[in-house]
Amino acid sequence: MEWSAEGFLLPVVDVEACVGCGLCVARCPALQPSSAGGEVAFESVVAYGAWNRDPEILRNSSSGGLFYALAEWVIREGGCVFGVVWQDRMTAGFVKAETLEEVRPMCGSKYIMAAPHLVYRDVRAELRRGRRVLFAGTSCQVHALRRYLQRDDEKLLTVDIICHGVPSRRLWEKYVLEMESRKGAPVRHVEFRNKDESWERFRLKVFFGDGTQESCVHWDSLFIKFFKSDVALNRCCYACRYTRLPRQGDLTVGDFWEAGQSHPDWPLRDGITALLVNSAAGQAAVRAVSGQMEFRRVDFREIYDGQDMLHDKEPRQPYPYRARLFSEMDRWQLEQLYRRFVGTTLVGPFVLRHDGLIWRVLCRFRWLLGLILGCAGRRKNG
Ligand SMILES: Cc1cc2nc3c(=O)[nH]c(=O)nc-3n(C[C@H](O)[C@H](O)[C@H](O)COP(=O)(O)OP(=O)(O)OC[C@H]3O[C@@H](n4cnc5c(N)ncnc54)[C@H](O)[C@@H]3O)c2cc1C
Repeated sequence: MEWSAEGFLLPVVDVEACVGCGLCVARCPALQPSSAGGEVAFESVVAYGAWNRDPEILRNSSSGGLFYALAEWVIREGGCVFGVVWQDRMTAGFVKAETLEEVRPMCGSKYIMAAPHLVYRDVRAELRRGRRVLFAGTSCQVHALRRYLQRDDEKLLTVDIICHGVPSRRLWEKYVLEMESRKGAPVRHVEFRNKDESWERFRLKVFFGDGTQESCVHWDSLFIKFFKSDVALNRCCYACRYTRLPRQGDLTVGDFWEAGQSHPDWPLRDGITALLVNSAAGQAAVRAVSGQMEFRRVDFREIYDGQDMLHDKEPRQPYPYRARLFSEMDRWQLEQLYRRFVGTTLVGPFVLRHDGLIWRVLCRFRWLLGLILGCAGRRKNG
């Protein structure tokens, strides 16, 4: 796997070393989609709102801290855990944890593509030794693991996260480098989902090498604005096959954003995990960690309605100016890139900003806007 110019890991065949066995094609998760299919009745989905009883663990996790509770159980049983950590300030990747100290850096979402390295091979090696293994990653990574292993193993517990898509590492590098040059100090550590204020108003917090810190409301960060605008996701994320049911993991975890509406009595300040239990192994794991976790059974619709990324939908169109965004990335500062390519519409050679006067005037006269866009043959975005 090699980093592409856009900042995503892509497979590259070393033709010198290839013996033409065809195994890479046979096992490829992208070429061989999941065999799990069929309609799943909403009434049959086992769903919970869940949160960890330990406030410190809850605060270090992105939502309700279920992942840590599962890891604790697996390690207690003599097993090991595979999850994603920061490997340096630019790179997130999968590693193995044998102890709870090694599990802690896995907690919390890293909003860039995680490098798998040799994780699938390492999981197989641990299963062959007869150990219990917990693997947590995106649905496509869980599917990739299953295709690699080619068989079910009762010692393997998989957790897939509800995923909006992974943004470009190149974009992240640019964000970090611009922060460092503005600050004059290296970035030491980043928390994408800091809960100092609360889970619902989480912040992106950056720790610098000179001992200082900076934070802003997550959604106000320029990097997250790019992420949420879907402008620089991995190409396959626009047509993700894994959003729908049935899910890939034994368990599915995400944020239970709607919890406050129907359950105002839950401890919403520190985070609630939206949990789907997809298999008997998943149900057994839930039972095993019920001492550490609070589980409240809910109607799946409560989660579904607030989770766009669970809907089985048409592929999203890749962002119309995606190619230009990447080709002009080195030319502009991020702020300028954002103003140029996000929340804008190109009409011929002109860039119309959606927060600009011309655009707002045009919006008041929608028929005129339609006429101009129709003539220019351009698509609206943002
Ligand atoms: C790129 C990305 C997009 C997401 N999009 C959504 C969304 O649209 N809706 C939603 O409800 N939730 C989304 N989440 C999941 C959410 O942020 C929480 O991770 C999830 O709710 C689990 O929370 P937790 O408290 O149980 O555990 P946490 O402690 O937060 O879980 C951490 C686990 O997530 C895994 N992980 C962290 N970063 C990555 C990564 N880059 N790639 C693969 N695995 C990773 C780690 O292996 C670890 O096991 C997303 C997460 C990521 C990483």
